[in-house]
Order: sequence, then structure tokens, then C-alpha cells
Amino acid sequence: MSLSSLIGQPLAVELAQKWLAQNTNHPLLFFGPEGVGKKTLALELAKILNCATGDDACVSCRKIAAGNHPDVRVVDFAWQALIRDEDLEKQQNLKIETILAERHRLLQSPLEGRRKVLILDDAHRLTPDAANAFLKILEEPPTDAVIILVTPFRDRLLPTTLSRCRPVRFRALTDQEMQVWQQRAGVPEFDVWLTRGSPGRALHLIRDEALAQIRDAESLWDSLPRRSAVDLVSNAEGRARGARMTRPDIEEKIKTLMVPAARALRSGHPARAARALPLMEEALQRLRNNVQPGLVYEDLLITLAKDA
Ligand SMILES: [Zn+2]
Repeated sequence: MSLSSLIGQPLAVELAQKWLAQNTNHPLLFFGPEGVGKKTLALELAKILNCATGDDACVSCRKIAAGNHPDVRVVDFAWQALIRDEDLEKQQNLKIETILAERHRLLQSPLEGRRKVLILDDAHRLTPDAANAFLKILEEPPTDAVIILVTPFRDRLLPTTLSRCRPVRFRALTDQEMQVWQQRAGVPEFDVWLTRGSPGRALHLIRDEALAQIRDAESLWDSLPRRSAVDLVSNAEGRARGARMTRPDIEEKIKTLMVPAARALRSGHPARAARALPLMEEALQRLRNNVQPGLVYEDLLITLAKDA
């Protein structure tokens, strides 16, 4: 894939091409909605910087695509969980130890490529300590090191971090661009409203597991008008609190429940759906405000049932 084949991000691609042409290693900050190509573009840059032959069939490009090039690393919660030998769910922020290890790696010579690349995903999750430990190398990265920060939430980064990076804005894809993406990716049709201009979200929605969850959500949505609060609480209790479901689990459940609601908006029960969708958004907001996840879910189901 060449940079320009990334769908829907002409400005980001243009900035990336300029950056490449300048032969600089000024750190980059990729920001914008989730699942619209930030990490994809970062990995493409890593490929170009290390490519041996000029096409992405070379060993270096293939290793980067497979995630096992020793000089190119995506550091995120999954990586941190792996090196700390902890559960992924336990990761709340990017810790100073993780950053110190990366700083150390970037100061060494590349192992087999020309450039060491650090793609720091969810950069807004850096602890203040970690962000501060990162500043010096962000200011003056070694000439053979490239740092790309990735985040949906630019304003959550410290000003000192922001000022050291060249910002590259990504945006949600239009419905038309989503259709182009869908055809090119060869994936089944999906609900454009739900994907909100995000191929990443679309891929998530069309996974088999997600489809099964959507079927569950559909039968829950259909049953809500007939359900009592007691019935729902005992059920939500069993599923949510009893099973100790985590915040991301509940978030996923609510987002999945939006699928049948979005369908109802266009056919079936538009009035009910128009009331329900804002309630679901509100519940997602409460989750972000650290309200107990099981409680948020129970409250939501009871309110939706009453309103149905
Ligand atoms: Zn290559």
C-alpha cells in the first residue's frame, strides 16, 4: 500500500509526505477519531523508512506488517501487559517503566533496519511521570529514531508533549468514503450510521463475535417493553455485577445495544429509538465519569424498559 491509497485522509497523507520529503525525524502526533487510519499510516511510514526494495513485499515490510520487526514497535496497553506479564484489563495508563524501556531502545543502534520507530498508541494515557520522562527524547530524538504519538484525544496530552510534536489531524470518513473502503476491503455491508466514519469500528462490528452480540442485543431490545425492573435488575445483576464485568465490557454492551436502536430509528419504532439513543449516550458518558459499570448498565436497562 502506498500512503496515498489511505482512504479519506488526504490532508494527513499530504503532511506525512512532506515530513518524509524533509528527511526529518521531528516527532509526529496523529490525532482524530478512533479507527480511521492513524496507526495504519504510522505503520506505512515505518515501512517506507525501513524498506529494502521499494515495495512492501520485502522482508522488512512484511515483518512490520506482521508486527515482528525488531526496530519497529507499537507500544500500547497490549504491549505493556505483555512485558509486565499482566492482564490486558488491568492496564489503566502507560507507565514510566514502559517509557524508560522505549527511551533506552531508541538510544541503541537499529538491529536490522535503518530507523527505529516507536508508535505510541493511546498517548493520552501516559502518566505525568511517563510523559515527563519522555520529553527529552521527544525534543531531540536520535537521528535514526522516529517517534509517532497516536491518540483520539489530543487535548489530554500535556502542553509540553504537544509542543514537541508536529500535529497531523485525521477525520471521520464520509459515508461515500466508507463505501469505497468497504468495497476495497471486501467486507460485508454494514450500517453506515453505526460505524460513524470509522473503518476500525466497521471491522469490529462485522466480526463474528460482534454479530452474535448484536443478535443478543436485538432480543434484549425487543424484550424490553415486556420486562419489569426486578426482572432486569436480577438479570443485569447476574450478567454485569455478578460476573464482574469490566468498564470496557459494559461499554461494548451499550454500544451493541445501539445497533437495534439505530435500526428502529429508521424503521419500526422511531420515536422509542429517538428517546433511547440519547439515554445510551448518557450511560456511556457516566461510564467515562467512573460510575460503577454494573450500576450504569442496570439503570440504563430499567429506564429503557420504562420508556418502551
Ligand atoms: Zn519494503
